[in-house]
Amino acid sequence: MYLEENFSLKELTTIKVGGRAKFYIEPSSLEELKNSIEFSQKLDIPLFILGKGSNTIFGNIGGLVVNTRRLKGISIREKDNEVLVECLCGTPLKSIIKLSLKEKLKDFYKLLGFPASVGGAVAMNAGAFGVEISNFLDEVYFISWEGKLEKLKREEITFSYRNSPFPKIGVVYKVVLRLKRTEENIMEDYIRIRNLRKEKQPINEPTSGSTFKNPRGYYAGKLLEDTGLKGFRLKNIGFSEKHANFLINYGNASFQEVIEIIEIAKEKVFKEFGINLVEEVKLVEDSGLNGWKVL
Ligand SMILES: Cc1cc2nc3c(=O)[nH]c(=O)nc-3n(C[C@H](O)[C@H](O)[C@H](O)COP(=O)(O)OP(=O)(O)OC[C@H]3O[C@@H](n4cnc5c(N)ncnc54)[C@H](O)[C@@H]3O)c2cc1C
Repeated sequence: MYLEENFSLKELTTIKVGGRAKFYIEPSSLEELKNSIEFSQKLDIPLFILGKGSNTIFGNIGGLVVNTRRLKGISIREKDNEVLVECLCGTPLKSIIKLSLKEKLKDFYKLLGFPASVGGAVAMNAGAFGVEISNFLDEVYFISWEGKLEKLKREEITFSYRNSPFPKIGVVYKVVLRLKRTEENIMEDYIRIRNLRKEKQPINEPTSGSTFKNPRGYYAGKLLEDTGLKGFRLKNIGFSEKHANFLINYGNASFQEVIEIIEIAKEKVFKEFGINLVEEVKLVEDSGLNGWKVL
């Protein structure tokens, strides 16, 4: 199994911020994934499960980072006039969007434009343009922290806005999506959304997407803009000129700088509007001294 020590994490996230992980593993089979969990439990060190790193900002990790990128694969079959798409957790969401365009499948393409893995998208219940990945799920196979492969049907899992029970209850290993065919001109809508994203979001910059979740009834980006934080910069990190809720790494930004700017933003928004912003990005740092836990 691919295992490294003292591994640099920076290049594994889209915002390109990060320290080092004491241990780093890229499992390439179900067995190796199970072994990774066992490894961290035996050493009594924390474990972080990583997809494409598009919602993660790392500090230093005293434990184990498990990257799912070698666990890739898609297979499709037809059932009751629907298409069942089975995919492993490390499969890029982009590949399934491509497939959904080719097969003319309804609505899934709306999840275009963010560099997620399937596992990360399910864990975050990623969504955009009126859909969330949980709308398309049929079942999820996951490895529980007891090391057993388990299966849950969609209706047995509680999803909410950018939230799911994963990785708290285990590592998503494989998912089955249930998609419907459509006669709509989905290519036209796909291009419309792609252009909107290009126009409104700094998609070609090192970023983790939305920093904060939208508080009920508000847009985090608008709140940040109204407190004057659009374009605000602290050393090497700043809120984008294009979209106030997107942090941009303008150089060699550190985890500490990210924490500082997030604190400033939360304080300002609370002072002006009495609203507590909650991070959507996962800020992950651990000294590894506190025994086994899931980060
Ligand atoms: C330019 C840009 C635009 C974005 N736009 C959107 C958007 O419109 N909508 C949206 O929802 N998000 C958006 N995002 C955020 C991000 O892409 C999503 O949250 C995405 O689903 C994260 O997937 P990932 O594989 O990168 O997860 P990671 O960042 O690797 O991990 C995120 C979380 O998922 C957990 N996780 C990862 N894999 C697994 C697994 N196999 N089992 C259990 N837990 C796992 C991790 O432990 C972590 O808690 C955007 C990001 C960028 C950079």
